[in-house]
Amino acid sequence: MTKTIAVINQKGGVGKTTTAVNIAAQLAKRKQKVLLLDLDPQGNASSGLGLDKNNLSGSTYDVLMKKVSLSDAIQPTSVDGLFLLPTNANLAASEVELVDTPNREKMLDSVLKLATHDFIIIDCPPALGLLTINALTAADSIIIPVQTEYYALEGLGQLLDITQRVREGLNPKLKLLGVVLTMYDKRTSLSGQVADEVHKHFGDKVFKTTIPRNVKLAEAPSYGQTIFEYDKWSKGAKAYKLFTNEILAREGIRL
Ligand code: ATP
Ligand code: MG
Repeated sequence: MTKTIAVINQKGGVGKTTTAVNIAAQLAKRKQKVLLLDLDPQGNASSGLGLDKNNLSGSTYDVLMKKVSLSDAIQPTSVDGLFLLPTNANLAASEVELVDTPNREKMLDSVLKLATHDFIIIDCPPALGLLTINALTAADSIIIPVQTEYYALEGLGQLLDITQRVREGLNPKLKLLGVVLTMYDKRTSLSGQVADEVHKHFGDKVFKTTIPRNVKLAEAPSYGQTIFEYDKWSKGAKAYKLFTNEILAREGIRL
């Protein structure tokens, strides 16, 4: 059965895409068939995997609008077992175009029913609009990356409210898998303070693995590579490996 995990936080630049790409790649390295679904009109996950966004046979937009089938739009990547549903800026229009569609919150869910992957990892946009609601409706669980910076917790109350509303209506199975601290810098006291505060709010929902600030993680996408191709011995690669172990443990999956 497919496990669908949405990586979500309406705040920009907190590490959603970096997390989605690298956990998807790590799961693929463990012989899982993985679909990385780029649900952000910025298309960072797509370009980060080296895709030319101007030359797609089909995109998330086409699939949501039922113009192209899921299987026709999905592309292989340079990582064995990792497939990508790519996106370009067209996707931004879907928020408007879907407004009058019945079941507009369930468009993604209905499309993904046809997927045959072990895991689908959804990279969400930094917004709480219709695309994100579609992700919450289609997902089994969510991971919230939280950057260890000032205002880290701002907006999370609203995100949890929306998650709860989707759970009560559109998707009762939806669960919060956990909160992951990103860009942690052990040399600064701020990172530690923010981590303490996040632990206070989320308790054991906070993953034990913290993703360190690591320049290799920021460099890898400009080479179209995941951290495991770019520098598998880096601290970032090690952290995303451990983090994937934790995800699997929380999902109750043994590989
Ligand atoms: P957006 O909301 O715009 O989609 P995002 O939440 O997806 O952003 P990312 O794109 O993953 O965030 O990260 C923001 C920036 O920080 C990127 O330039 C990325 O390369 C960099 N970055 C992410 N994680 C780390 C890290 N652990 N160490 C160093 N740089 C990082
Ligand atoms: Mg992103």
